[in-house]
Amino acid sequence: MNLKLKLLVACLFIFLSSQAQQAKTSPIEKANNNPNTKVGRPKLVIGMVVDQMRWDYLYRYYERYGTGGFKRILNEGFSAENTLIPYTPSQTACGHATIYTGTVPAIHGIIANSWFDPQLGKDVYCVEDKSVQTVGSTSSKGLMSTKNLLVTTLADELKMATNFKSKVISVSLKDRGSILPGGHTANGSYWYDDQTGNFISSTFYMKELPTWVQSFNSQKWPNQYFSKNWTPLYPLSTYTQSTADDKPYERPFANIKTSSFPHNFSSFVDKNFGMITSMPYGNTMTLDFAKAAIPAEKLGMGTETDFLAVSLSSTDYIGHQFGPNSIEVEDTYLRLDKDLADFFTYLDKTIGKGNYLFFLSADHGATHAPGFSTENRMPGGGLQFRNYRTELEELILKDFNLKGTISSVSNNQIILNHAVLNEAKIDATTFKKYIINYILKQPGILNAVDIQNLQAATMPAELKERIAKGYHPRRSGDIYIILDAGWYPSTSPGTGHGAWNPYDTHIPALFMGWGIKPGKTNKKYYMSDIAPTVSALLRIQEPSGSIGNVILEALK
Ligand SMILES: [Zn+2]
Repeated sequence: MNLKLKLLVACLFIFLSSQAQQAKTSPIEKANNNPNTKVGRPKLVIGMVVDQMRWDYLYRYYERYGTGGFKRILNEGFSAENTLIPYTPSQTACGHATIYTGTVPAIHGIIANSWFDPQLGKDVYCVEDKSVQTVGSTSSKGLMSTKNLLVTTLADELKMATNFKSKVISVSLKDRGSILPGGHTANGSYWYDDQTGNFISSTFYMKELPTWVQSFNSQKWPNQYFSKNWTPLYPLSTYTQSTADDKPYERPFANIKTSSFPHNFSSFVDKNFGMITSMPYGNTMTLDFAKAAIPAEKLGMGTETDFLAVSLSSTDYIGHQFGPNSIEVEDTYLRLDKDLADFFTYLDKTIGKGNYLFFLSADHGATHAPGFSTENRMPGGGLQFRNYRTELEELILKDFNLKGTISSVSNNQIILNHAVLNEAKIDATTFKKYIINYILKQPGILNAVDIQNLQAATMPAELKERIAKGYHPRRSGDIYIILDAGWYPSTSPGTGHGAWNPYDTHIPALFMGWGIKPGKTNKKYYMSDIAPTVSALLRIQEPSGSIGNVILEALK
């Protein structure tokens, strides 16, 4: 054998043996050999939505975060840094639905927290269901289910992938923050009843609360937290990332009549249970409930992957009241950071580090308080949006001699009563043009468009796409109104969200643990890409309306 031939044989041998070895240790086979589950999957998936968490909060407060909370996720996990909400309006219900379904309101049907239903002729709340009853309370706060959600969620798909052997539990102070993530087949979705101070559910899920939920409720956590009051974690002078404590554009607590620290909550004991939502301890209590669910429901301790969906709502109530630049918001995130660190320590202990997959996002961001923008010479302000309706109706009466043409002004939209227009033989397109002309003369308006004729509008494609993705033909309106950047449709102190702009739609998309490659990307991704990414990791079918993409860079 000459040298060339010897080399060729040697190369062939190396090639064949590496092929054989590759076949022996192929990733799928390796995954299937995972002793914990049949198909390679984590023991537990934890999805977390931090209500109203703007992406920039990860870095605004970074230096004050400890090592075990947000910093741990950023350092050990993966961050899709440029993740945006692909539709408008950016509200809580649509955000939760999109994160867990991988699709947009045009398909999942949750176009807002509530919407005007032209067929019913009335407003519909996103998770209302009058056919079920409250479980765990005598109040009407449990008349809720997933009835209005038109597609499956990640959790539903996980359950189907394991022939319903996976267990799914969801919790939030807000009903919609728990129900939409839990999905149609959740074993238990729990939310807070501000009438009783208890976590409750509905007969859609169960006949009575499990013992562990009853014993959690019996501790009367809200009273314990009210007694602690809300004092800042550190001396006020150290909150250098925020504006002064007392600002006229912060909304005072109704019962305390002040917006500056210390916030005295002790008078709410046994009286005003709803106030837990307006203090950071509302997040602590929700996370404690989630922790209690793990051993009680044996989550992550069976043979199949389980799912725990946790949504933290206090961040939203506090953000609305004080605005993104307030000490209250900074303090809330510093406290949440500590709570997260405790939560991860607990997961490491009970489920085991590396055995769980964690992801975190937000349902929407927040606009700066209009007063803050004005104070700092930035564009923006407060708009008395709803007054349009009265003024418009007066004009319509004068010009068309018609009443009742507007059914609703909500979710940045005007919904017309087409029956009235038809009867008066008024062409809807012409009538919409008349209204649009009026709207465009108002301050703080960027544009107003006929939604059914969106393609004809002279407007950037990005805006058209966001409107189209938020439009459902039986739940949305006729005219879409886009505000100028920085404007918020209210003149009262505090702020909100709902616009297409980055402050409302640039959200965190973080992944950590099982199957996640540490790192980051600045590529543009969307909220609807989270569910397909988790589906890919879990090797399950994407939710039934999913249109998102897998964030490939996050996968090992
Ligand atoms: Zn909100």
